[in-house]
Amino acid sequence: MSETTKEGLLEALQERREKSMEVGQVDNASLYAGSPMYYYCKHCGVQVAVKPEDWYEDPPPSTCADCQELLDKGWHDGEKPEFPLWTGPAGRIPNLVDE
Ligand SMILES: [Zn+2]
Repeated sequence: MSETTKEGLLEALQERREKSMEVGQVDNASLYAGSPMYYYCKHCGVQVAVKPEDWYEDPPPSTCADCQELLDKGWHDGEKPEFPLWTGPAGRIPNLVDE
């Protein structure tokens, strides 16, 4: 199945959600002062940005590029699942964003 079919993209969306359910999301408020802030796609929970705490420029996107593509095509289910919080040590927070 091609990655660009509706089915393929929706399958990839489910896979991103399952991964996010496993990994969890950082509660920025729980981090010590000066910690970077972690931003996540509201639809699938993947990290979309990691910014310094004092970042006040363009707000990071609230949707990842893959979900945005689905939204643009009108294929996204539009759901915004609740993802669990990251519970690992603060020093081990995965940074999944290439910047
Ligand atoms: Zn997404």
